[in-house]
Amino acid sequence: MNLYWIRSDFRVNNNDALEQALKNSEKKLALYIYNSEKFQKRSAQKWWLSQTIIKYERVLSALGFTLHLLKGNEYEVLKKFVKDYNIRQLYYNKIFEPKELELDKKISKYFNLNLKIFAGKSNLLQNPFDVKKNDGTPFQVFTPFWKNAEISYLNNNNIEKPKFKNIKNINTKNKKISDFIENTILPKKKWHKKFENTWNPGENQAIEVLKKFMDQNISNYSKNRDIPSIFGTSKLSPHIAFGEITSETIYSYFNNIKKKNINHRKFINEIGWREFSYHLLNHFPQIEKRNLRTQFDKFIWSNDKVKLEKWKKGETGYPIVDAGMRELYETGWMHNRVRMITSSFLVKHLRINWKEGESFFRDSLLDFNIGNNVCGWQWVSGCGADAAPYFRIFNPILQGEKFDKDGLYVKKWIPSLQSIPNKLIHKPWEIDNVTAKKIGFDLEKDYYKPIVDHKIARNEALAAFKKLRSK
Ligand SMILES: Cc1cc2nc3c(=O)[nH]c(=O)nc-3n(C[C@H](O)[C@H](O)[C@H](O)COP(=O)(O)OP(=O)(O)OC[C@H]3O[C@@H](n4cnc5c(N)ncnc54)[C@H](O)[C@@H]3O)c2cc1C
Repeated sequence: MNLYWIRSDFRVNNNDALEQALKNSEKKLALYIYNSEKFQKRSAQKWWLSQTIIKYERVLSALGFTLHLLKGNEYEVLKKFVKDYNIRQLYYNKIFEPKELELDKKISKYFNLNLKIFAGKSNLLQNPFDVKKNDGTPFQVFTPFWKNAEISYLNNNNIEKPKFKNIKNINTKNKKISDFIENTILPKKKWHKKFENTWNPGENQAIEVLKKFMDQNISNYSKNRDIPSIFGTSKLSPHIAFGEITSETIYSYFNNIKKKNINHRKFINEIGWREFSYHLLNHFPQIEKRNLRTQFDKFIWSNDKVKLEKWKKGETGYPIVDAGMRELYETGWMHNRVRMITSSFLVKHLRINWKEGESFFRDSLLDFNIGNNVCGWQWVSGCGADAAPYFRIFNPILQGEKFDKDGLYVKKWIPSLQSIPNKLIHKPWEIDNVTAKKIGFDLEKDYYKPIVDHKIARNEALAAFKKLRSK
């Protein structure tokens, strides 16, 4: 018996392990192991995981697989499953995250010669350990990293336009699977139902999103990617996080576009940032928990729980920050520009440790992955690789006025600000009494007073972070 072990690769296209299993299996078994510890602080992703499992099970059924869904620690469950089903060959795809690589090692060591193991390609363009500087050390600056990584990828691969397979599925209505999902994966409180209004998980949808974005939206990416009120970015991130589509597929689609311009380049550089995050995570695994730049270990963070809660709930009194946090709560996603503004606000204006923010994003984002999230937070905080300098403090008022000029984004997520004149939409506390009365707006009743004064918070942050730099 042969087994395809599904990890984070819910797809048919560009899936090494599945391809091999299909070639060599007579009786086809597939297994997904739900490790609740791993999902303990990833509440939003439990919803996406459930949806993608249901869809993938139908696809696997059409390919002749029987899917088993089990709960527990992957290593223990695999050991038992291999024994119970007399498995002779195991197929899976690699995940380049330190703990997953450790698990791979443990599995190969345990099974040793008793089991043939096929470990297929990960959902990265290449193995993060294959890209190094001339002196053999890892990169810590994005531009040289990506220049090097992209050349190495192009030199070592023949990149053809992806020919998407026709993904058939059988509507199995598998009660065992749906009961498992309902009883074991999904939270009892159905707060995640609202995600259904925004997202449609699964490989078919991922391919559709890619094609639509590449064919219609990419030509304005450089400009539109910073405007949170419009569909300016691909929104592929949750699909990528669950391996419904790979960076390789995205890259090959990009590479085979004949007339490329700066917009295409900008977009593919973002895929490069993802590669860079994984490069850093694999070479400096400590970054998952600690500052890459260790002088930040001495920084004295604020322990203000009230302000932290207000940030989480989108009640800071700064409209662009609050709109972002509400978009995150409602949709499980936040626009990249706004991720930078909200995270900078937490770390610089409130001087609350980035780890608090990282953990909240981890729990709330549908697209969470360790590499991107940790690197995003360390970049904004200034303690990561190639990070923003300590004096870069996003001004939530100016950022709002620049990237949400007419307040469309803010008004969408904070309806109580609908009637505020555009010129004050990012600083509603400046509204005069006469206008406020005319439009029936009361700052404290309809919204919030700012929890910190921007100028004071900025100056205090500058002083605190500067001190750290000179230590
Ligand atoms: C504090 C903070 C936390 C973040 N946490 C995550 C996270 O957990 N998961 C995640 O996927 N991204 C994270 N990002 C990066 C980025 O915000 C998202 O990848 C992006 O908003 C996803 O939307 P999109 O698919 O429309 O992006 P597009 O602009 O369409 O980009 C395409 C793809 O490129 C990759 N990408 C884009 N921007 C970045 C970036 N800055 N760093 C690394 N890869 C990038 C993503 O895979 C994305 O799907 C974080 C950024 C910040 C500032």
